[in-house]
Amino acid sequence: MRFDILTLFPSMVEFYVRESIIKRAIEAGIVDIVVTNIRDYAIDKHKCVDDYPYGGGAGMVMKIDPVYEALQDIKQGRNTRTILLSPQGTIFNQGKAEELFENGTDIALICGRYEGIDERIKYIVDEEISVGDYVLTGGELPALIIVDTVCRLVPGVLGDERSSREDSFSCGILDYPHYTRPPDYKGYAVPSVLLSGNHEKIRMWRRKEALKRTLKRKPSLIEENDKLSKEDYILLKMIKEEEYDIDECGRRAV
Ligand code: SAM
Repeated sequence: MRFDILTLFPSMVEFYVRESIIKRAIEAGIVDIVVTNIRDYAIDKHKCVDDYPYGGGAGMVMKIDPVYEALQDIKQGRNTRTILLSPQGTIFNQGKAEELFENGTDIALICGRYEGIDERIKYIVDEEISVGDYVLTGGELPALIIVDTVCRLVPGVLGDERSSREDSFSCGILDYPHYTRPPDYKGYAVPSVLLSGNHEKIRMWRRKEALKRTLKRKPSLIEENDKLSKEDYILLKMIKEEEYDIDECGRRAV
């Protein structure tokens, strides 16, 4: 899978992809990340990539022509989905990451800066994606968020395929709590079941804890979930009964 990142600040992006799991994936030839400096496609001698806004007002606007020319180069003979990073786009989530991955096409991510890119960019992109309802200085961090999230889904990128399948959202609910050594930290003990060696009990405990925290933190994931098993419903009933047993002072009723 190939990702193209079009940016005015290549080093910001290269810094991240040179590290971590993404670096391993690139070295293993599983994913390819190509960073293009939009400024290289500016045609005037000053390599100008932005200009004053028509109609006046604050800030500068990125010119469309260098972005268009860069895209033409990137897309030559390839099936590439073009995404503009924008706070006004569709909100990115795990479902969107899975859709991008399953779509199977290469992805080009265009990072805006300043007041954004000339509005006519909408005629040359396939969609606009936002990473949340807040405004960042540029599209580089959003682009990296998308690359990182989609890369984790590509077979071979993570050491153990189960990791991404069991992650929050991928499995339809939130992930279960994780613990490692020491078994007791300043009086906070690891739940004894995890030290029991009983795999079936551990599996059941983890599923119950995952359901419990989903119910508490993101109940919509349970309400809208059509993939819960019979066992899940039994566990959910147990969770609700246990909650009911706790009185208003937080004491468990006997
Ligand atoms: N004037 C724009 C607006 O209010 O919608 C904001 C421009 S922002 C300062 C500059 C660039 O950062 C945008 O063109 C976009 O590429 C990127 N950006 C900022 N916030 C973002 C977000 N939440 N999601 C995706 N991209 C974002």
